[in-house]
Amino acid sequence: KDICSKTIRQKFLDYFIDENNHKFVKSSPVVPYCDPTVAFVNAGMNQFKGVFLGTQEPQYLRVANSQKCIRVGGKHNDLNVVGTDGYHHTFFEMLGNWSFGDYFRIDACRMAWELLTNVYKIPTSRLYVTYFKGDESLGISEDVETKNIWKELGVHESRILPFGTNDNFWEMGLIGPCGPCTEIHFDHITSKNRSEFVNKGLHDLVEVWNIVFIEYYRNIDRTITPLPKQHVDTGMGFERLTSVLQGKISNYDTDIFNYLMKAIHKNCIHLPEYKGLFGESDWNHLDQNYRTLADHTRMCTVCLADGVIPEENQKFRRILRKTFVLSETVFKKEKGLLKELSNYVVENLGLVYPELEKNISQVHQMIDYEEEVYRNLRESVSKDWQKLLEENPKLHALDIIESPSYINAYKEIKSTNAKAVDAELAFKLYDTYGLDEDGIQKIANALDLEYDPEALEKKLDQAKLKSKQGSLKIETKIHKLLAKNEIGKTNDNFKYSYVKNNEEYL
Ligand code: ATP
Ligand code: MG
Ligand code: MG
Ligand code: MG
Repeated sequence: KDICSKTIRQKFLDYFIDENNHKFVKSSPVVPYCDPTVAFVNAGMNQFKGVFLGTQEPQYLRVANSQKCIRVGGKHNDLNVVGTDGYHHTFFEMLGNWSFGDYFRIDACRMAWELLTNVYKIPTSRLYVTYFKGDESLGISEDVETKNIWKELGVHESRILPFGTNDNFWEMGLIGPCGPCTEIHFDHITSKNRSEFVNKGLHDLVEVWNIVFIEYYRNIDRTITPLPKQHVDTGMGFERLTSVLQGKISNYDTDIFNYLMKAIHKNCIHLPEYKGLFGESDWNHLDQNYRTLADHTRMCTVCLADGVIPEENQKFRRILRKTFVLSETVFKKEKGLLKELSNYVVENLGLVYPELEKNISQVHQMIDYEEEVYRNLRESVSKDWQKLLEENPKLHALDIIESPSYINAYKEIKSTNAKAVDAELAFKLYDTYGLDEDGIQKIANALDLEYDPEALEKKLDQAKLKSKQGSLKIETKIHKLLAKNEIGKTNDNFKYSYVKNNEEYL
């Protein structure tokens, strides 16, 4: 019989807390306490940023927890892949252990390996580890020490793989703590050596655990210097670990999602059940839509319980609306599906995160309100949309979901009499009218206009660079204030907080 996810989570915590002297620290809310550089908490380390920055004294030297994480923007944006694979979610739990200037490389690797192979009993013949191969431009050489630690722990040399800065060097931001990392990957399908497929995005050979050695500091002038103290920061995807231990290739086939898939079907009994397969047999993308709806339901429920306000967070509102659209168009439920499903999430996760239970009525009220707003919006644009369809029947190919954006985009294209969607126009459709790359391609196709997605990408890169320079400015400002000791050093509930309210200072 499968080990259940609840036991898996508990074993992780017991291993670090009871057996290895760590303290349990509650998950922080998914909205950062006071950090203007990220919209959502995207890793377990976020609440400990102050410790790594050296602005906050750690209450304990060893801590562990299971942190609620959201990855829908910034450096970690998994929104567009959710549903298309079985192991990226918008909301997931990150199991983590930390050492603040206490143990370092040897113990971090040893504990991770012992937990996976002795406690969870994962066959070593399915595991790979990666380490930092060094980078001349950073002036940091190959992390031979880590490589040797893995060898000593019994990992076969052919399964210890070097990777570069992209995969195995972690940085907190443009300035700040950073360091090499070592990762553990699991092969779902075979014991045969498939090391050439590690980090290649296969859905059956996935990264499970990332262990970061925070030992450097990236300075404003881009140089790197050693930190006074060395820290360990680790993160393991709870849903991925569960799929490994329950012998399922996809996270959606574990008990973390089964109940939700069943609940969706129970509410939409006329549709086929979730089959849990990728590819050909996925009738009309139904399985993919099941995955997306289940994922977004968890994400929306958790965010609303943590006080995210859709009106103030457009990114979140789009995801919420996507669930309404899926409910309506795919699952043929005009009203109330998300609200109904949110109950299942609360029931399933409420014991781990009591705030879900506590705030359930707030979650329901928000969903009801937002669904109403969404419906009104749909009604008000549907007349305009019908008119446009009469004017140009080709627009039928477009999804009415995004019709408010399409209507404006269409008007823009008509008024400028554009003969092609060049980079300039594409950027305007993206930036001003809110179409994503996919939407631009669709409207270009519908109107038989030529369009080169790469040109847009280049333009977006330029824009990103600009905003990067902007955030570099903000970060520099914060760090200057930190250096001058002008920012409060609070230790409130061991939460990351180097400023009471950043806005005040910036
Ligand atoms: P990947 O390369 O698979 O996208 P990552 O390198 O972006 O993962 P990290 O930032 O190293 O992930 O986060 C630590 C761990 O959190 C990962 O090893 C993985 O197990 C898990 N994780 C990361 N992103 C997701 C996600 N979107 N959904 C579920 N688990 C995730
Ligand atoms: Mg990622
Ligand atoms: Mg990775
Ligand atoms: Mg990683």
